[in-house]
Amino acid sequence: MKRVFNFSAGPAVLPEDVLKQAALEMLDYQGSGMSVMEMSHRGKEFTAIIEQAESDVRSLLNVPVNYKVLFLQGGASLQFSAVPLNLMKNKKADYVHTGEWSKKAIAEAKKFGQVNIVASSEDRNFSYIPKLDPNTFTKGADYFYIVTNNTIYGTAFKEIPDTGDVPLVADMSSNIFSEPIDVSKFGLIFAGAQKNIGPAGLTLVIVREDLVGNVDEMVPTLLRYDTHIKAGSMFNTPPTYAIYIAGLVFKWMAKNGGISEMKKNNQEKAGLLYDFIDRSELFSSPVEKLSRSIMNIPFVTGDETLDSKFIKEASSAGLKTLKGHRSVGGMRASIYNAMPKAGVIALVEFMKEFEKNNK
Ligand SMILES: *Cc1c(COP(=O)(O)O)cnc(C)c1O
Repeated sequence: MKRVFNFSAGPAVLPEDVLKQAALEMLDYQGSGMSVMEMSHRGKEFTAIIEQAESDVRSLLNVPVNYKVLFLQGGASLQFSAVPLNLMKNKKADYVHTGEWSKKAIAEAKKFGQVNIVASSEDRNFSYIPKLDPNTFTKGADYFYIVTNNTIYGTAFKEIPDTGDVPLVADMSSNIFSEPIDVSKFGLIFAGAQKNIGPAGLTLVIVREDLVGNVDEMVPTLLRYDTHIKAGSMFNTPPTYAIYIAGLVFKWMAKNGGISEMKKNNQEKAGLLYDFIDRSELFSSPVEKLSRSIMNIPFVTGDETLDSKFIKEASSAGLKTLKGHRSVGGMRASIYNAMPKAGVIALVEFMKEFEKNNK
């Protein structure tokens, strides 16, 4: 068996310890004689798993008591519809447009109400986070929407906007658990699990209690947050195995120093890569310095043929899935919590060699 360094944007690398434990428990979960995959979601073993997972999310992120933690399905993308369906009471919301994922969320929201794009970085291919001017915010908006980390373009908000009484909604799919956050600044946070949490098929939602309920009768039952709150995320069969693995990842984070330690490691890893890119004569970063993500790091040579050669040779060297998204081109290294520092060091060493050989 040989593990590679997997720089995929998602589904992405998981901690090796987590995979090993899952392997150990695959056939017989803690003496139950069955795999977690085979268990009733109503049984005592799985009930303990989901309750523990919730409690670990709460302690890792210091989730205040007036927030609900939900384990849902449909990916982050279903939240693009669920958010307006549940929160757009006055049919108006503000969105910051920072890339493909905000674009999709905006397109969905427009089906349900008036969308005001308060700022956009589309003019320079989403290579920066736009400055926000509170004077442009809609008074009495139902919510204000941001994507905290833009997986494709490699940008991230360094400051959480102050939206006053207007609830802040955040798509944190690619940077939740990467650094401490003040949950109380948000009305609703959601994240698809397959980037920094666990397997695909699970979506984490953290929502302030007072924002749910009182929705239009036409809203499908499964898209209502209050449905899932009342049922403890078990209105229908939840993605049990994905929740179990996510639970192991939460334990792994806690064991490894919690979210502040995750941040320290992530900054160190990202620093190694950016330092090299900024000194390199071959590679460059298309992202404005002050907007750079510590999770997803695009870089280019400026020559497509050379980019392809890099991706191919890196893959042969065990550095996998480095191809950039088609809208940016070049390469992208996704270095989530579970990417070991050794993986980033190996990447930088490989880049140095490649630069020497391709001058
Ligand atoms: C991956 C991603 C999504 C889409 O997630 P799905 O679970 O595939 O729907 C949405 N937003 C961001 C920021 C992402 O990185």
